[in-house]
Amino acid sequence: MSTDTSLPIRTVTDPDIKATYAVDQSVGATAPSQFEVVRARDLEDVVEVLRWAHETRTPVVPQGARSSLTGSSVAIEAGVVLNTEGLDAISTVDPLEALAVVGPGVITKDLKDAAAAAGLFYPPDPASSAFCTIGGNVATNAGGLCCVKYGVTADYVRALQVVLPGGEVIRTGHRTAKGVAGLDLTGLFVGSEGTLGVITEVTTRLVPAPDPALTVLATFGSLEAAGRAIVALRLERHLPSLVELLDRAAVAAVQSLADYGFPQDCEAVLLVQSDRPGHTADDVQRYAAVLAEAGAVDVAVADDAAEADLLLAGRRALSPALEAKGPRYLEDVCVPVGRLTELIRSGQEVAARHGLEIVMAGHAGDGNLHPSIFFDADDASSRARAHQAFTEIITAALRLGGTITGEHGIGTLKAPWLAEELGERELERQRAVKALFDPRGILNPGRVYWS
Ligand SMILES: Cc1cc2nc3c(=O)[nH]c(=O)nc-3n(C[C@H](O)[C@H](O)[C@H](O)COP(=O)(O)OP(=O)(O)OC[C@H]3O[C@@H](n4cnc5c(N)ncnc54)[C@H](O)[C@@H]3O)c2cc1C
Repeated sequence: MSTDTSLPIRTVTDPDIKATYAVDQSVGATAPSQFEVVRARDLEDVVEVLRWAHETRTPVVPQGARSSLTGSSVAIEAGVVLNTEGLDAISTVDPLEALAVVGPGVITKDLKDAAAAAGLFYPPDPASSAFCTIGGNVATNAGGLCCVKYGVTADYVRALQVVLPGGEVIRTGHRTAKGVAGLDLTGLFVGSEGTLGVITEVTTRLVPAPDPALTVLATFGSLEAAGRAIVALRLERHLPSLVELLDRAAVAAVQSLADYGFPQDCEAVLLVQSDRPGHTADDVQRYAAVLAEAGAVDVAVADDAAEADLLLAGRRALSPALEAKGPRYLEDVCVPVGRLTELIRSGQEVAARHGLEIVMAGHAGDGNLHPSIFFDADDASSRARAHQAFTEIITAALRLGGTITGEHGIGTLKAPWLAEELGERELERQRAVKALFDPRGILNPGRVYWS
């Protein structure tokens, strides 16, 4: 073991710059008093840090763009932030093999653009795609707006290069379209939230490019009718590429930023899209009929790409619009699609009982809701009630057969509830798997497996 305990690599010394790497987007995230930041420039930098950190038992926080909403990329006291944004090469986009090979620091939108330039499509589409990284997406198994048709990040990761604590570089998975040799270690790393290793290269599957999407917007006078519409759309032979729900308060928040063309006088709005090559116009007419049949009050078909883009821009503006409203706990529960209305009703009941504003919106086609629970930061009672509401929505999701997180992950925010979903024995098995890769527990300690 080395006796030199100083980091053998250049760290960020400017305190102002360093501070920008301290926290992520999670509610209440605070910077530790003492930590180091390494901005990795290449594989060797990552190897160096993980070799040293393993020897010195120093905590390491793998980090991308810090857009995590769960505290999973916040710096740890006396630890090292190992930021991989600089590993941002798109080294291969191969139309024949339908794959891309990229560094973890590539911004999601840049990979989507590179694929599009080759006539291909990288579907995962978190609402943060303009600024989050592929490394972060893989580590959180990010979802997003078009999962209802295309699935999540895990469905597109073929192979990984990962550096383990101690500095060993491993490869998982395969470049080929098929491959079943051995256990699926790629799947193990996807969604592991930086607790098993640091991802240094990602091989992603690409699919043929879709057509520019067309959009249907439907307004509903009751949540139950909106719920019926979502279920009916999920039973369609040609699935929509997007089914998003906004409640009245979510629509008001978006429209307060700018006029995105959303009507305000309704209980719920559904945005539905088709991107099926050669059939978008047929599909949106079909979806409009399904929505009307389910009880929509108004159904408008945005039948050109410009209008469709405006409506989607409104959906993408939801996060900043809600951010502007003030501090909030942001939920990320997911339930069977058929039980989404019950989840929303539970959320409304929780809001009324605690005297809180809870805005409901999310990826309705997946049963994945992001209730925003607003509180007054200067009022301890308001914050405590909001936290209690956060807990009660998690409990409601589990009772409805759902999960405590659909796509944002566990981080620190939801670590206390992991045992409730998995059970103690499963949690023990998962801790044992972590120990196999990270025997000294240096990677993101306290995250996911908190106790
Ligand atoms: C406005 C907004 C909208 C969002 N919308 C969505 C959405 O629609 N869908 C969704 O799924 N998420 C969404 N998110 C959450 C967030 O953007 C995702 O979790 C994203 O995948 C995080 O990427 P990042 O690069 O910011 O990672 P970070 O926040 O830096 O890190 C996230 C996790 O990944 C780990 N990590 C990062 N890089 C590596 C690496 N190289 N190796 C190993 N581990 C690593 C970190 O340790 C941490 O556990 C949203 C966030 C915001 C702020």
